[in-house]
Amino acid sequence: MIEGILLKGYGGFYYVLAEDRVWECSLRGRFRVRDQDFFPGDRVAILPGRKVATIEKVESRRNSLVRPSVANVDQALLVFAMVSPQPDLNLLDRLLIQVIGAGIKPFLVLTKFDLWRPAREEEAVWQAYARLGYLLARVSNKTGEGLDRVRPVLRGRITVLAGPSGAGKSSLTNLLVPGMELKTGDVSRKLKRGRHTTRHVELFECEGGLVADTPGFSALDLPAMKREELAGFFPEMDPYRGLCRFKSCLHDREPECAVKRAVAAGDILAPRYDHYRQFLQEVIAAERRY
Ligand code: GDP
Ligand code: ZN
Repeated sequence: MIEGILLKGYGGFYYVLAEDRVWECSLRGRFRVRDQDFFPGDRVAILPGRKVATIEKVESRRNSLVRPSVANVDQALLVFAMVSPQPDLNLLDRLLIQVIGAGIKPFLVLTKFDLWRPAREEEAVWQAYARLGYLLARVSNKTGEGLDRVRPVLRGRITVLAGPSGAGKSSLTNLLVPGMELKTGDVSRKLKRGRHTTRHVELFECEGGLVADTPGFSALDLPAMKREELAGFFPEMDPYRGLCRFKSCLHDREPECAVKRAVAAGDILAPRYDHYRQFLQEVIAAERRY
């Protein structure tokens, strides 16, 4: 048997990358399962046959996304334009929580560097994200500048892209994976293009790794969690743990809160804290629904 990674399922066949080639596989024999039980990204063992290979084994998944269905995702490129449109940092912080909550490593790709005129305030914001430990690359999909920072991080990993419409996800993938066109879940665009009627995900080989042709994380809901877990998604709050007056402080309306003091002192980015408070209300509202 040969171990490989499922790239896509299509028309009853499955395409598996193993030993540097793509094998057409059927489920004859061992498996009689519904389609959605196999996701691109699944690690499988195949048995070469005379005409087609057969899938004999599927390993359990490290994680999986639904809509699009991709398994064993290692990282997400969070693609945001630096300008036009102005980056929506609320959406960025939301995506960071979704991605990290799913056990996936975020990598920030800031596009339209060619249009950007450095402004001190904006620069401070991006520096703050970099300091939080979120890897960051600035690129221009127009000039190709900065892409050499992105290419090496694809090696050996399964990557999805995420980010708002217009940020440059399609442009970026076209540069990284020539021949691959990013599918989107955006209905208006789908109608415009008149194709891409399927939502089947396919993984494409790129720089020694695999990239999904459909962006992930389009839903805006935060993952289900307890209210006291939210601060764990804000690494800048870590140093203040245990320093608030109340042990159970949610850093919201409580008095003598070390986190709020840090925000006032400029040691925690104010917009990040504002998003924290907004997300806290959402988490509390969702808690009540269970
Ligand atoms: P998507 O919706 O995230 O897939 O974004 P697109 O890749 O379709 O890009 C949206 C628009 O921004 C298109 O008109 C692109 O040509 C343009 N664009 C994307 N990246 C860049 C960039 O780095 N620099 C400039 N100047 N324009 C870009
Ligand atoms: Zn507090």
